[in-house]
Amino acid sequence: MTFLVFLGAPGSGKGTQAQNLVLTYPDMFAHISTGDLLRQEVKKKSEAALRLQMDISAGNFISDDIIFDLMEEKIKTIDDSKKIILDGFPRTFDQAQRLLDFVKKTGKRLEKVVYFGIADELLFDRLSGRMTCNECGAVYHQTAMPERCSCGSTSFRVRADDNENVIRNRLEIFHAETEPLVSYYEAQRVLFRVDAAQSIDGIKQELLKVLGL
Ligand code: AMP
Repeated sequence: MTFLVFLGAPGSGKGTQAQNLVLTYPDMFAHISTGDLLRQEVKKKSEAALRLQMDISAGNFISDDIIFDLMEEKIKTIDDSKKIILDGFPRTFDQAQRLLDFVKKTGKRLEKVVYFGIADELLFDRLSGRMTCNECGAVYHQTAMPERCSCGSTSFRVRADDNENVIRNRLEIFHAETEPLVSYYEAQRVLFRVDAAQSIDGIKQELLKVLGL
């Protein structure tokens, strides 16, 4: 089993590209979005779930222990022959260190880190028109909504953290905590960049080249 990390600001398109890769190459890739795992937890309506919901709605980070436990459980369910795309993890140096320890301990490999680079101004437009599938978390834009999600659901919503103030907070945290991982992975020679300001298809073409497909 190998890992691909998709690194980028919220709205940079990493989730959309990960979903598309899994749809196109279901035997090759699996997708783990830590945001989706957390939103599944929130549906449980426990006291812990309520606290999670408050932090997510404010755009704040959730503790590394919670994130890592959810991820480890999910990894166990995935066929060993697949490449796992990590979307939204790691977001801090501590999480990157945890991933490194996990990879070493389990004899797996971190194959590539793809950085979805894009200016903040463009992200506001994308995030404020974003619609999320209530069933599977797939992401669409208000201007190009299908009648049905690829999972079959017809139920969509605007995420609570996709409003202007929270977007600002999420971007601030991204620049402070997550962006420094770009040079960290660059120094390890595993970093590849795609221009995430392009259309979904434009990004896809660049990504396929980076992945050698
Ligand atoms: P996302 O769907 O990736 O935009 O994540 C939505 C929210 O989930 C984030 O704004 C955080 O509150 C939380 N979250 C997701 N992944 C992580 C992570 N790796 N570490 C901490 N919090 C996370």
